[in-house]
Amino acid sequence: MFALADCNNFFVSCERVFRPDLERSPVLVLSNNDGCVISRSNEVKALGVKMGVPVYQIRDAIERNHITVFSSNFTLYGDMSDRVHLTLLQMVPDIEIYSIDEAFLDLRGMENTDMDLLAKKISKTCRRNTGIPVSVGVAPTKTLAKIASKLCKTYPKLQGGCYMNRPEDIEKVLKKFPVNDVWGIGRKHNAFLSMLNIKSAADFAALNPEFVEKQFSITGLRTWRELHGEPCIGFTNEVPAKQQICSSRSFSKEIYELEPLCKQVSLFVSMVCEKLRKQGGVCNQAMVFVLTNRHRQNLPQQFEEKMVTFQVATDSTLEINAAIMKALPRLFRKGYGYKKAGVILSEISSGKAVQSALFDAVDHGKHGRAMKAMDYINAKEGKNKVAVASQDPEGIRMNRNHLSPQYTTKWSDILVVNSG
Ligand SMILES: [Mg+2]
Repeated sequence: MFALADCNNFFVSCERVFRPDLERSPVLVLSNNDGCVISRSNEVKALGVKMGVPVYQIRDAIERNHITVFSSNFTLYGDMSDRVHLTLLQMVPDIEIYSIDEAFLDLRGMENTDMDLLAKKISKTCRRNTGIPVSVGVAPTKTLAKIASKLCKTYPKLQGGCYMNRPEDIEKVLKKFPVNDVWGIGRKHNAFLSMLNIKSAADFAALNPEFVEKQFSITGLRTWRELHGEPCIGFTNEVPAKQQICSSRSFSKEIYELEPLCKQVSLFVSMVCEKLRKQGGVCNQAMVFVLTNRHRQNLPQQFEEKMVTFQVATDSTLEINAAIMKALPRLFRKGYGYKKAGVILSEISSGKAVQSALFDAVDHGKHGRAMKAMDYINAKEGKNKVAVASQDPEGIRMNRNHLSPQYTTKWSDILVVNSG
């Protein structure tokens, strides 16, 4: 048996935990720089506001319907996500984190448990411990578990938990379930599926398996078999190590001077290096790139990058930052307005076996100890408590006009309860 725990309207739900007054009113969350809609409450969905729509296109609707708007607060969402995962881990042997708001639950060894009861209990416990509404679907395969969890959102009487196991129940559900909402059937197949008049998951499951493999490749066949209750996708407890790590952002306003640009890029360096160390990797290459605003074609345009290589693979923020800070002035042009910049680490390998060089100028042992101390302090005391001096203490320059406080990760933002 497989289970999927999926947080409902996750970013909106995180905001509502600290703003219970918004529980039944329309709420939406915007992407970085307050660009597009990335999370909607059910009330907003009912108003017909689509996912990903740019905010300027719905200004009227926001005003007319008194929609509460939030800038994205990923510090809060990341922390709330950790809390949900921790709750899940207390109730099942293991979990596989699939995304910030979804996790598969490993139910091996729990065969004698009443699964419907368990699903509802997990949902209830998550809500009680974290304040986040979670939909838990249990089924013989991961693909079916995803479908079961979606049912919880459509039918409140399921109380957040749905166990779907009897073949006749599964058949009934698949008949009503849109094929494009099935996990693993990408949008790229939409046109082809509608040409074949395949609308529901049941229509897809009724196809001939040889035909499915020919037209939808082996992954399509895997989905087909999963819909038939045959588990093909197992548990992967280890997230595959990333071969490239990137951090980039658009700035709220163009940056015309080198110094503030360096400060921002330095922040990106810290972010990618921290991710690199988290996955236990080292890299031989780092790239910095800058972009002017392509929407302002009347201004001088530049899109350029510089690559630096390291003879000995490294994970040191100090070393990588120094190299990038040397490369960036060579990209920078006076009179150009930079709208976006970023850093990409590549040639990543495991930090366990590093080839050293005879004339290595960097004391990697010393850097390693410094990084370990830095990561430890930052994990305990808050982001960027210890940072390289070149990085911007103000953080990334983004438009975040509707940002909520860092309720759970910053002492000064903690919720105050009035007793009087
Ligand atoms: Mg979700």
